[in-house]
Amino acid sequence: MYLTGVGPRRKELLDKELGIRTYRDLLEYYPYKYVDRSKIYLLSEISHDMPFVQIKGRILSFEEFEMGKRKKRIVAHFSDGHGMCDLVWFNGAQYIYKNYIIGKEYIVFGKPSVYGGRIQFTHPDIDDASQIQLDNMGMQPFYVTTEKMKKAGITSRAIEKMTKTLIAKLAEPLSETIPEFIIRPLRLVSRDEAMRKIHYPKSAEDTQRARLRLKFEELFYVQLNILRYANDNRRKYRGYNLKRIGAQFNWFYSHNLSFELTGAQKRVMHEIRKDMASGRQMNRLLQGDVGSGKTLVALMAMLIAIDNGFQACLMAPTEILAEQHLQTVKEFLQGMNVRIELLTGIVKGKKRRDVLDSLANGTVNILIGTHAIIEDNVRFHNLGLAVVDEQHRFGVAQRAKLWNKNDNPPHVLIMTATPIPRTLAMTIYGDLDVSIIDELPPGRKPIETIHKYDNQTTSLYNGIRQQILLGRQVYIVFPLIKESEKSDLKNLETGYETLCEAFPEFRLSKIHGQMKDKEKEAEMKNFVSGQTQILVATTVIEVGVNVPNASVMVILDAQRFGLSQLHQLRGRVGRGAEQSYCILVTSHKLTNETRKRIDIMCYTNDGFEIAEADLKLRGPGDLEGTQQSGIAFDLKIADIARDGQIVQMARNEAQKIIDADPDCNKTENEILWRRLKELRNTNINWAAIS
Ligand code: ADP
Ligand code: MG
Repeated sequence: MYLTGVGPRRKELLDKELGIRTYRDLLEYYPYKYVDRSKIYLLSEISHDMPFVQIKGRILSFEEFEMGKRKKRIVAHFSDGHGMCDLVWFNGAQYIYKNYIIGKEYIVFGKPSVYGGRIQFTHPDIDDASQIQLDNMGMQPFYVTTEKMKKAGITSRAIEKMTKTLIAKLAEPLSETIPEFIIRPLRLVSRDEAMRKIHYPKSAEDTQRARLRLKFEELFYVQLNILRYANDNRRKYRGYNLKRIGAQFNWFYSHNLSFELTGAQKRVMHEIRKDMASGRQMNRLLQGDVGSGKTLVALMAMLIAIDNGFQACLMAPTEILAEQHLQTVKEFLQGMNVRIELLTGIVKGKKRRDVLDSLANGTVNILIGTHAIIEDNVRFHNLGLAVVDEQHRFGVAQRAKLWNKNDNPPHVLIMTATPIPRTLAMTIYGDLDVSIIDELPPGRKPIETIHKYDNQTTSLYNGIRQQILLGRQVYIVFPLIKESEKSDLKNLETGYETLCEAFPEFRLSKIHGQMKDKEKEAEMKNFVSGQTQILVATTVIEVGVNVPNASVMVILDAQRFGLSQLHQLRGRVGRGAEQSYCILVTSHKLTNETRKRIDIMCYTNDGFEIAEADLKLRGPGDLEGTQQSGIAFDLKIADIARDGQIVQMARNEAQKIIDADPDCNKTENEILWRRLKELRNTNINWAAIS
């Protein structure tokens, strides 16, 4: 096939700029919006606050206005017999005079605005009225193009023409990729119809039907891929059957546990117990806001492993956190006959050898540590359960590494305090089952969040002073952005000095990413033990540090942080019995989006609500964790943030297929498995996980 208007140069540009190589690529280059071009407005009806409209009339005259050196504004005075307006250009005089002729009838399409009291259209689309049949135009698609492409004449209009030519040349219907028995009950249009209508719709309804079908198709195959992957793994690896609830668990529950579990904790425990006793390997994501009591749940799961004669491990992202976990677990298990050991980079020499030996001969019951745990030389006697804290640093590859430590893979429980909206979780952690703790232990006072401007330092400092005099501790966080680490560091250093001067009566600690681990640990310990009252830090404190006495979190230049980051930081306070505060300090200049972020933070403490808002504000591509998860996005039309319902629909359908055809060999599903294979082969991201 040959497409008119696509010479070698344009072909190269399409490839380079948009990755369009084949006709299929072109077909799958979907419009990002449509404009209804079936209606012509009268100039007397038009006001500047209308969206894109079209009018029909004639150019009466041209006029030029000088705008500084060598720049001019070209104005065409235009009339449709009912009113007047101006068409305005800031460049391209030659083209305009050559192509637009006074007295000839044109259809002008653009966004009306007002200038000097007159309606005007800036750089409008202009078509020869005699060339256009309005009935046929319907919805006009708009395609994303780059500056480079526009310079070479590949405008949205040009792409529209290419796709329309291509569609007109397609004699055969495009082959279907989803079987009838899925499509029909959902009332989706065929692939052929969707492809033609997405580029060439006659009505708004056409575009909606086409988009729904194509979004569904995309999300359905993502889900089918994930579920198939999980299913294959489940069948490949058997899991230990940890049925027994024994002495350790029962002793802990009736003697050591001093409070009642929350309803959510009980529900989640139930889910975990069921998994561990199912004979299949557990791969579960445990989500819950900071302080919701995940660690306790994990601990009880570890006790079940021990009761069944197995070992358990708990892996944290940093040494500080590993040590904190060690402390917590030791306290919880006081007086019980459970051997707990620590393995981090700090554990060296004879101690390390001893830990490793006892681990291998099975005398260690619980190992707590950092990534050191998954190093090759660490051998367990029989690892039954691996708990991973803060999953976003722990992708599919690392999980696989854990599995290699035994004949059977251990059960895996991944805890995360980064709430992920359901539909997103289904997509990026779709191979994990998800448990959610959506309830805080009773008696917790919600953190109060306050917005302050950066010229209100007096009241800010007074507030801080007041809290410290009440015996509390305070975090003060400075932003740090990678590209300019040096200047940010300077920012932190001068900020630290200013604060030292402002609070001569208190002691301050300081932590940032450029410090050596040893120094960091030392500064952190000073704060944890209460020797210092203020911790000045960059976001290195974001993950998991627990200082219940710290009740104030001040975030400076809060406008430079993302929502989920702000929420994570805020989660560092509110851990004790006292009322806690989070103070977001910003400059007066805020963009709309920033203001929304700050408002959401002040309005809610609910991590899931914040995550949903974050997803809507930023889109899924930027979310932390999507990179490391191993299942990256490559969606052309669907939008995880906005198409939640379709994600759910796709998930349900994919689940039905996997349930009914676990061996992937039923004839009626043949087209699905073939298509999935094709997609895995052509899509690098998908190939990476399979
Ligand atoms: P997370 O790991 O989810 O951040 P933790 O497990 O660290 O939360 O729990 C935070 C604090 O709440 C801990 O001090 C823990 O002992 C306590 N806690 C956990 N569950 C309960 C409960 N059901 N009732 C009262 N306090 C609880
Ligand atoms: Mg925790």
